[in-house]
Amino acid sequence: MPELYVAGTWVTARAGGRREIRCPADGSLVAEIDEATAADTEDAIGAARAAFDEGAWSGTPHAVRAALLLRVADLLQRDRAQIARMESLDTGKRLVESEYDVDDVTSVFRHYGTSGGTSGGVSLEREVDTGRDGIASRIVREPLGVCALITPWNYPLLQVSWKVAPCLLAGNTFVLKPSELTPHSAIHLMRLLEEAGLPAGVANLVLGAGAAAGAPLSTDPRVDLVSFTGGLETGKRLMANASHTVKKVALELGGKNPNIVFADSYESAREAVVDMALTAVFLHSGQVCSAGARLLVEETIHDEFVAELVRRAGAIRLGGPFDPDAETGPLISQGHLDKVTAYVDAAVAEGASLRLGGRRATGDGLDDGFYFPPTILDDCETSMRCVQEESFGPVLTVETFADEDDAVRIANDSIYGLAGGVWTADEAKAERVARRLRMGTVWINDYHPYVAQAEWGGYKQSGIGRELGLAGLEEYYETKHIWRNTLPEPQGWFG
Ligand code: NAD
Repeated sequence: MPELYVAGTWVTARAGGRREIRCPADGSLVAEIDEATAADTEDAIGAARAAFDEGAWSGTPHAVRAALLLRVADLLQRDRAQIARMESLDTGKRLVESEYDVDDVTSVFRHYGTSGGTSGGVSLEREVDTGRDGIASRIVREPLGVCALITPWNYPLLQVSWKVAPCLLAGNTFVLKPSELTPHSAIHLMRLLEEAGLPAGVANLVLGAGAAAGAPLSTDPRVDLVSFTGGLETGKRLMANASHTVKKVALELGGKNPNIVFADSYESAREAVVDMALTAVFLHSGQVCSAGARLLVEETIHDEFVAELVRRAGAIRLGGPFDPDAETGPLISQGHLDKVTAYVDAAVAEGASLRLGGRRATGDGLDDGFYFPPTILDDCETSMRCVQEESFGPVLTVETFADEDDAVRIANDSIYGLAGGVWTADEAKAERVARRLRMGTVWINDYHPYVAQAEWGGYKQSGIGRELGLAGLEEYYETKHIWRNTLPEPQGWFG
């Protein structure tokens, strides 16, 4: 069965390439799928360009486009169990988390299908008061064109949905390239879009490695926008490529996110604060862009707090996606396991104290998977590489702070600015700290939740632009000024 979707047709890769997809939990073969090359991607770009220029989808009323998103939401729920299973096989993630993810994906389609009337709250037309007689001046919002949507493997369909739903609502066409490691849910989404009645050529899917299948997406002049979620270095490369044809870029990159624990929070809710510090960093084995992987703990409670964290983290049970007792799963690949191991080794070499974990987890059914246990690095200095760099694994670095100013200064000392957490019972202090953090999302006495209604994205090198919410939709529009002179004889300079 061909798996590339181009111009409304399922096709195989032109050069006949295939890729094995293996489950990270036990190395078992999930499937062999098409591996596109640049030529396939150029076909897909051509299809998206032709569909956009032909104008059927961009000319479709917002209400009709919104209704299609709602149909997709229903289909996602109909196929919830099937999609969750394919996500778990591709990522190794626990089934319960994959089910939760499908519900989140559904919420994104529902949000853009219903919010703010039919335009998702974007003001599509606005009169401008020019202060001049005889002039009618209007601002209109129009779809941007052909969008290249490039996504990572950690939340495969969720990251896709954050792009596809607003992209379609605004009337664009797209070429989607999901991570080569986790293609199945994206293939399924194309089937659902087809079933929901999306015209041919509006949605196109290519599968394969970034360097080959992905390359034309940031260089081809027929692409208007590159919306990318992934690592910092890839993002920089795409932005540089895109500059040659001045494409718009939207980037959701990495993070090294501080979770700031003030002593008063621990004193008032010990269990909960420890529990949430663990959730912040170890959810999905730390393979979360917003993972609270930098613990900043007030120095007066450091010893007791870290001892409790180590005790609790040591009891977290690793296991495969369908093991009902597992609390977290494997890393995505051998390459990633090697990277996380090297990161911990380097941290110890630069002076961090390894309090827990640090070596591949084996035994107990784990030997064939890429398991890495919860790992805690204490006595970290802000300048250390392990504090500054993203491991994207289950690794927590611990720093201490003396007071509120110190906490803010240390937390902001990073090239990243994606997210952070603040734990205190003092509401005024929480608000002050939240305002001073240079981050796109700040949770107060919580960690990780998000909603489709609220913008998501990064300050500094965590990205450019926003996804979700109103701003996440506005990324997919162009803005045009139409100036109409109603006077019989316009006045020029040379008359
Ligand atoms: P990655 O940068 O290696 O790959 C991301 C995607 O880009 C993949 O589909 C890949 O094939 C593609 N790609 C790579 N090179 C390309 C090229 N030259 N042209 C076109 N496409 C190319 O990232 P990853 O390892 O898949 O994901 C992990 C990273 O994603 C982490 O750094 C994480 O923080 C980040 N992330 C960020 C967010 C966010 O919302 N900010 C969300 C999830 C993940």
